[in-house]
Amino acid sequence: MKGSDYTVKGYSLKEMRNENEKSVCRLMDKIIDREEYSGMCLCGVCMEDIYGLALNNLPPRYKHSRTIKLKDKKIDMEIENAIKEAIKIVKRSPNHS
Ligand SMILES: [Zn+2]
Repeated sequence: MKGSDYTVKGYSLKEMRNENEKSVCRLMDKIIDREEYSGMCLCGVCMEDIYGLALNNLPPRYKHSRTIKLKDKKIDMEIENAIKEAIKIVKRSPNHS
C-alpha cells in the first residue's frame, strides 16, 4: 500500500505536522479547566470532537519538523477562540447520550 504510511519516494513525511495540533492540545488542556466550563463532559468522544472542530476551524499550519517555532500571541488567541467555539458546540450537543 504505497503512500499509506506517510512515505513518498522513500521519505517519511510523518514528522510534518500541522503546528496547530500541538497548540490546540496545549491550550485546550488549560481552557477546559476554567470555571466557566465546569460541568463539561471530559470523555474521550467529547475531547476528540472539540479537538477536531477547533482544528477544522483554523487555517492549517504545516511546518517542517526542523523549523524553529516562535510563540505567536496572535496565533494563540486565534486558536483559543477556535477552542472556545468548539467547546460551546460540543457542550450544547455532545455526540453521545
Ligand atoms: Zn462526553
